[in-house]
Amino acid sequence: MQAIAVHPGKKNSVHLREIEKPNVSDIADGKGVLVRTLKVGVDATDKEIIEAYYGDAPEGDDFLVIGHECFGVVEEVGENVTAFQKGDFVTATVRRPGTSIFDVIGTNDMTSDDKYYERGICNLHGFLTEYFVEDEAYTVRVPNGIAHLHCLMEPMSVVAKAIWQMDEVQRRLRVWKPKVAFVMGAGQIGLLAALFLRLRGCEVYVIARTPGPNIKTEICDGYGAKYVSTIETSVEDLIAEVGRPDVVIEATGSSMMAFKSLEYVGKNGCVVWTSLTVVDEMLEIPADKINQEWVLGNKVLVGSVNGNRGHFEFGIEYLSLGEATYPGVTEKILTTPVKGFEKYEELVRLLVEDKSALKVYLDIADG
Ligand code: BGC
Ligand code: ZN
Repeated sequence: MQAIAVHPGKKNSVHLREIEKPNVSDIADGKGVLVRTLKVGVDATDKEIIEAYYGDAPEGDDFLVIGHECFGVVEEVGENVTAFQKGDFVTATVRRPGTSIFDVIGTNDMTSDDKYYERGICNLHGFLTEYFVEDEAYTVRVPNGIAHLHCLMEPMSVVAKAIWQMDEVQRRLRVWKPKVAFVMGAGQIGLLAALFLRLRGCEVYVIARTPGPNIKTEICDGYGAKYVSTIETSVEDLIAEVGRPDVVIEATGSSMMAFKSLEYVGKNGCVVWTSLTVVDEMLEIPADKINQEWVLGNKVLVGSVNGNRGHFEFGIEYLSLGEATYPGVTEKILTTPVKGFEKYEELVRLLVEDKSALKVYLDIADG
């Protein structure tokens, strides 16, 4: 069967290759779920893998099948699978357990191992293939009613984990109820975070560079969030108008904005960093001012990566609630389909070059 792969560490080595079709019996104890892949999204992490900043091949291979945002339909299940049937729509989690205590208790998204295992990213092959097989434990059901949001399940799990972390951390305050939320960045993670926080009843400001109107402002409008272009309004002016945010979800991919977020958040506030920045940026920051306000204001910064099964389920609940509350808005994130494996070069080109694309994805088949 066809697969899209790279030679990790080698720039622009994306290629189409034939690999063996997996079997339901590849997974132990009759727990295998064989999935026919329908859609696979690509994101900044794939771009970094393609540009050779990131990514590792599985042991014994010199290639890595990429793709970690999957959606497909169950084709066959092992004899001990109880949660899935042929014809179910599913996605799969990305990270697999390592050896740390956090992996052992089922929170492999919190691994403290130096070497970790992520399908399509490091040490495990991904989902940009015609079929994949997965353990029932890492397969997650997608309700038919949100099947049209297909490859957004994984990005939403990343947002769900970030919100979950915020909730966990802010329990320290006992009565914390966030009112004003800033989302830094209007990419897929920023927009999905805006949806999540709107569904929580926050007044949400999505802060990005490009002035509207554009697809991002349209989506923000649809969610009842306010889009703020920093070219038109400075964040300082916004704060003068609406006050300091109780929460900042940072998803710009810029370490400068990540550090700026620390200057914005209000007392008892929480900043969640979700973007991974890869260049070696050096910055000058008002360190004493931040430190003083941080201590006197009991503020928290939390980094958040990946999402375990619970976060996928949490994200899927909120995507479903999102469809009920703001019908037809979230699908606008799915801007850029590319049809068929043979168009892999086009997939890469759009991912790297099309700055207006919110979500580039391989459209393999309809359910
Ligand atoms: C993925 C996460 C992963 C992270 C770090 C992100 O693009 O969505 O699942 O943990 O990259 O590799
Ligand atoms: Zn990702």
